[in-house]
Formats: sequence, C-alpha cells, structure tokens
Amino acid sequence: MKAHDGMYIDGDWRPAAGPDVIEVVNPVDEQVIATVPAGTPQDVDTAVGAARAALPGWAATPPAERAARLTALRDVLVARKDEIAETVTAELGAPLPFAQAVHAGLPIAVAGSYAELAATHAFEEKVGNSTVLHEPIGVVGAITPWNYPLHQIVAKVAPALAAGCTIVVKPAEDTPLVAQLFAEAVHEAGLPAGVFNLVTGLGPIAGQALAEHPGVDLVSFTGSTAVGRQIGATAGAAVKKVTLELGGKSANVILPSADLAKAVNVGVANAMSNSGQTCSAWTRMLVHTSRYEEAVGLAREAAAKYGDRIGPVVNAKQRARVLSYIDKGLAEGARLVAGGTESPREQGYFVSPTVFADVTSDMTIAQEEIFGPVLSILRYDDEEEALRIANGTLYGLAGAVWAGDEAEAVAFARRMDTGQVDINGGRFNPLAPFGGYKQSGVGRELGAHGLSEYLQTKSLQF
Ligand code: NAP
Ligand code: MG
Repeated sequence: MKAHDGMYIDGDWRPAAGPDVIEVVNPVDEQVIATVPAGTPQDVDTAVGAARAALPGWAATPPAERAARLTALRDVLVARKDEIAETVTAELGAPLPFAQAVHAGLPIAVAGSYAELAATHAFEEKVGNSTVLHEPIGVVGAITPWNYPLHQIVAKVAPALAAGCTIVVKPAEDTPLVAQLFAEAVHEAGLPAGVFNLVTGLGPIAGQALAEHPGVDLVSFTGSTAVGRQIGATAGAAVKKVTLELGGKSANVILPSADLAKAVNVGVANAMSNSGQTCSAWTRMLVHTSRYEEAVGLAREAAAKYGDRIGPVVNAKQRARVLSYIDKGLAEGARLVAGGTESPREQGYFVSPTVFADVTSDMTIAQEEIFGPVLSILRYDDEEEALRIANGTLYGLAGAVWAGDEAEAVAFARRMDTGQVDINGGRFNPLAPFGGYKQSGVGRELGAHGLSEYLQTKSLQF
C-alpha cells in the first residue's frame, strides 16, 4: 500500500514535526501494511495556520468556482475509485464488492451532490427589509472515525468547501491511507493550497489539539459518544460551534401486517453490513409476539448465509469489545440463535454473525452500541409497547418500520424519537439530512441541511 510519510498541509506533503509513526494493520491477516506519521500539536498548529491563511481567498471565491472545484474533485474520486476500494479493503478489511459499492461509491455521490449544491444554493435571501447573507463559518476542524473512512471525510469536507470554509482533517488512526489518497485527490482537483489539510495522528494527541485549537471555528466530529461529549464540552467552553455525529442503537420495528420474510432479511443484512460497524445500523429488531418464533427462524437462516460473506471488525480491541458484549448477552439470559464468541477463522479480527432472541429492553445488548455483527430480537405485545421499546434508549440516530400499508408505517415512524426512518425498506438518500435525536448527536450531515452547518448568517437592513 502506498503511504506518505508527511502531512498534506498548505498544498504540499510536508515532513511531520515529530518522529512517531502509526502502523496500519490489515484486519484480515493482522499484517502491518504501512506506516503513517503520528501528528503532534505542532503539525496541527501548522495545518490550522494554513487553513486560516487560505480562508479569506476561498470564502471570497464565487460559489460557481467552488462548485467547479468540487466537480473536479468528484471526477478524480471517480477516476480513482478502484484504488479507493482496494485501500479501504486493505485497512478496514471490508470485502471488495462492498468497498467498491459503498466505501468508494457513496463518497462520489456525496461529493457530486455538494458540487451541485454549491452551484445552486441561495447564499443570500431577502427577509422583509433585510438581506440575509449565508457566510462560511470559517476554519473547520474535522475528526473522523474508521467505519466509513472516506465517506465520513467527504461528508464533512464537501459541504465545508461548498460553503467557503477551509478545513483540517484528523482521520482515524486505523484508516489513514484512504485519507491520504483523498488528499492526493484534492491536490489533483486543483483546490488552492491551504483549503484542505490533513494531519494523521492519534485521537488524544492530534485530535484533541485540533478540537482545542483557538484557530478552529467549528469542530465537526463523528465517533463515539464518550469522545463526542468531551469535544462538545471543550467547544462549549470556547463558545465554538460543534457538530457531533455519535452512536446509535436503532430499532427495526416490524408491525404485524408487514411482509415478515422481507423485513427480517433486509433487517439482518442491515445489521451485519460492514460487519455491524455502522452507526445507523438497526441492531434491535422488534417483532410482535404472534410472529416472533417465525421471525427468529428467518433471522437464523439469514445470519447463516452471512457466515462467510462479512469481513472482520477493524482491530483486536474492537473484536474483544464485541465478544465481551456477546458474553454479556449470554450472561443476562438472552437466547443465542446464531454465531457466538467462537472465532470463525484462525487469523484476522473476525466475529461470527450473531443473533440473540428473547432480548429484553433492559439488557445491556439492547441498550449499548456494540459496533459489531450482533443483532438482538425483542418481542412486543402491542404497538404502544413497541414504541416504548423503540424509543427506550439514550440514542436516536435511525430506524425502520415495516407494515402492510405505508400509511400505517408512517404513523408509527412519526412517533419515533430518531433522525431517520426507512419505511418498508426505503432506499438511502444522500440528500436527506442525517443525524441524531437525543445522545446520537448534534447537527445534521448531507444535503442542504449538512451545508447549513458550515454557514453563519449576517443580516443587512435596508
Ligand atoms: P473514537 O475514539 O470516538 O474515534 C473517533 C475519532 O476521534 C478518531 O479519529 C479518534 O482518533 C478521535 N479521538 C479519539 N479520542 C479523541 C480525543 N480525546 N480528542 C479528539 N479526538 C479523539 O471511536 P473509536 O475508539 O474508534 O470507536 C469506539 C466506539 O465508538 C465504537 O465501538 C463505536 O461504538 C463508536 N463509534 C461510532 C461511530 C459512528 O459513526 N457514530 C464511528 C466509530 C466508532 P483515533 O482513531 O486515534 O482513536
Ligand atoms: Mg479511539
């Protein structure tokens, strides 16, 4: 795998300030495939300085020109999509077809959507005797996780650039290679120096330095609730805007009138996809008592089909964490119907696709984000109970409702405390706002709503 031994700062690859490196490991065979520099607060400071210096020029660049650069960036991602997929496969362990379709495909769609939005968005509006200007918020500090490593970078960089902001990205330590590839793409697309900067490094060092840097106007974070809470507190103390995309424990609610086989099959696929490492995954399946055992049987079959098809989880620590949740499920009395703690392979951070039945809402596996291929099936007796269970966690990121008739599903979805609901298997929409109710986060990503996070308003009165 190709790796840079420097940081992409101010339009060039520059030597890192310190000597430390991060080893990048392939989770399929546990081999070190590359090293990248571990950034220090000094690297972060240089990068923020470059972003600050580039801000006035980029903010004043007409939206049509910003759109043209984003179109060029999208085109480079298209041209290099095989390389992107191979890189994500190598550092995250994602099976290649999934890496091609999702890890490479989704960022292309999102970059394209912001190229269009930059060109069409109303950066000025009239309100009575006022003209309201929507101006870039300034320098963005972006901290991203490893689970959709390029998507999460593009979901921050593309709207930031469309808005006229400049940005410094600190990618996850487990997946820095696709971030470096993205920096190359930005360079090829002809973005002015300093508009985009990349500092690889560890969260508590480089990440924290970025979140705390006084030259950053907005911190945009995706990752765990624990770190998000800390970043929110730091930003609050500095009276600085923050967007947080945190975890989830989303409910897949199968109403009695639903097409059960379809709802269960799509539900299992959703929970196992990306080895369960998806913040919006439907990790709790809610089934009416009358159809409960039938659903459990269908889920067992569906999970067995996944046996060989899912990749490993990202690292040894994550696997240990997922296995400890499986142990906890067993200890708290859930019924294991597929998978378990036994490793499906000798090598690599693999976890068997695991399904628990007889899970009750108070169990740890029904409340906490596991971030592995583990699905819990819960039982309800009536719709009110289903709603209580669906809403009965600290999270509210996503969810699904299945019913014989769309209106019935929508009526239920309206009562869910969550930011996204798929009705009868509705398709992912890269223009729809994505983000959480409750402790799943603050703010929204994607589409016009995602763009507005990077803008602030100025009102001129006439
Ligand atoms: P994490 O620690 O929150 O990592 C997310 C990002 O924050 C990474 O770039 C990380 O750097 C950085 N970071 C860590 N500590 C930081 C700090 N003190 N200040 C600033 N930045 C910091 O998440 P994780 O450890 O990779 O995963 C743990 C759990 O988080 C998962 O099991 C899952 O439940 C949840 N998670 C959720 C999402 C999501 O999309 N909502 C994504 C990933 C994980 P390093 O890479 O160096 O740690
Ligand atoms: Mg971490």
